[in-house]
Amino acid sequence: MIAGTGMGEVLSESGLPCHSNILRENPFGSPVVYSVFKYRAFQLIMLDRHHNTGEPLPPGRLNREAYMYALWKLRVGGILGISAVGTPYKKDGLRQGDLVVIGDAIDYVQDYYTFEREGFADLSAFYRPTNNLFCPHLRHALENGDHLSDNRFVLANSIKRPGYETPAEMKVRVRDGVDVVGMPTAFPEALLAGELSIPYGLLCGVSNVAPAKHNGQAVGDAMKAMVPEMMNRILQALDWLADNEHPTDCPCREGRKESVFDMLGVPSFE
Ligand SMILES: [Zn+2]
Repeated sequence: MIAGTGMGEVLSESGLPCHSNILRENPFGSPVVYSVFKYRAFQLIMLDRHHNTGEPLPPGRLNREAYMYALWKLRVGGILGISAVGTPYKKDGLRQGDLVVIGDAIDYVQDYYTFEREGFADLSAFYRPTNNLFCPHLRHALENGDHLSDNRFVLANSIKRPGYETPAEMKVRVRDGVDVVGMPTAFPEALLAGELSIPYGLLCGVSNVAPAKHNGQAVGDAMKAMVPEMMNRILQALDWLADNEHPTDCPCREGRKESVFDMLGVPSFE
């Protein structure tokens, strides 16, 4: 699991048995700190995306490759991401406190979200489809195991700078069919998970209606208020997953059957 603003405590408050650990050797930089929880037959790895490499980092400066590599190295079977998002004001639209399972995304930031770099590049390894970037099986689990809805909520990987969208930027997002706006956290993780061949599902908490008229503390407070419901939803998803293993022919596996590290080896950039 990967959690963000205000949600780092989501499992700590559950009372589940837990211990902390650290992965020191990492070709993508810093050692990565994580917690391990036990729940039913699962060993849950919990990573706080803003605090896993020591210094707290804002979304635009995360070392995503380092912590995503750690999840691959730990051989997790799937990733459940949690993220705070804003939503454009619409009559009868989403409201603060709603939980949303993401089905697709639009990338406005257009940064280089990949493990590919000089000396570690290959056409067959890195050019992967982006259909079902958010695994339908994990979507199903996060939607409470109900019938998988056809409504594919669209996430905008919206802005990189600390802060919020301008009113004009929000108009563009609404025109484009975006349901919720987020910072470069979950979307880059979904792409990197695709390169790692790990199914990725994303549960978002609507922390504000955009354009925002408040500071980041308000987002943290709104997310904290959602912790109990988020935790319940995650545990229900795990209950469902305990009885419903990820199928080997899941649509999220198409073109993503093998991780880039299994294909090319783990690089050394020294
Ligand atoms: Zn899948």
